[in-house]
Amino acid sequence: MLRADKLLASMGFGSRKEVKKLLKKGGFTVNEAVVKDGKTHVNPEADTLEVFGERLYYKPFIYLMMNKPQGVVSATDDKRDRTVIDLLEPEDALYDPFPVGRLDKDTTGLLLLTNDGQLAHKLTSPKKKVDKQYLVHLEKSIDEADILALEQGIELDDGYVTKPAVVELVNDQEKDVVYLTIQEGKFHQVKRMFQARGNRVVALKRKRIGPLNLDETLSLGTYRELTEDELEKLL
Ligand code: URA
Repeated sequence: MLRADKLLASMGFGSRKEVKKLLKKGGFTVNEAVVKDGKTHVNPEADTLEVFGERLYYKPFIYLMMNKPQGVVSATDDKRDRTVIDLLEPEDALYDPFPVGRLDKDTTGLLLLTNDGQLAHKLTSPKKKVDKQYLVHLEKSIDEADILALEQGIELDDGYVTKPAVVELVNDQEKDVVYLTIQEGKFHQVKRMFQARGNRVVALKRKRIGPLNLDETLSLGTYRELTEDELEKLL
C-alpha cells in the first residue's frame, strides 16, 4: 500500500504541491471513487487508478539520494553486513531500489538508489563517461608529479592504466586533501590510484555523479528523493 500523494508524485504528476492541487480538484479516483486526501493508502497493483478519467498504469520508479555512512555496504543484500537498503523506510524499500554503482564499505557520500535500470546503466557504463567526483583525504601531501601522473593515467597493481583524471587541491595550504574526478569505476579505483603513487587514502567521500551533487544537508545515513530538477538533468 502506498500513499496516494507519493504514488502520484513518483509517477510524474508533479511536485507534492502540484499533486495536492490535482487531488483537491477531484482528478484522482480509486476504484471509481474520488480520493482527495493525499494520505489515503492505495494498492497500485490491485486498485483501478485514474487521473482525470485516464487509467493509470503503475510505473513504480523511485530515485533516492543518500549520504552513505561508513560501515554499510552498497549492495541489496549481504550475509554479514548491513546494506544501504537496510537504511530505507519500508515504504521506499517496497520499490526495490538498488544502489547505482558501488562505494566501498568505508566510503561515504553520494549514492543514488533507484529501480530504473536504464538510468543506472547510463550512469555506470564506462562508455558514457559520467564524472564521479571524490573528496580524498590522504596520508601524505601530493606533489606536482603526482598530479601530472593522475591526470595522464596511472598503472594500477593489476596493470590496468587509468583514463585521465582531474585533480584539484581543496585549498593551497592542505596538499593532502584533494578532489579527484574520474569517469570510470574499477574496483577500489581511487584508493589504488593513490596507492600506485606510494600514498594512502585515509578517507573517501563521493561528492558528485555527473550533474548530481551531494546535498550536504543530508546527514550520514539519511536520504531524500531527487527533486524534479535533479532528475531532469540526469535522465
Ligand atoms: N574508489 C574507491 O577506491 N572506493 C570507492 O568507494 C569509490 C571509488
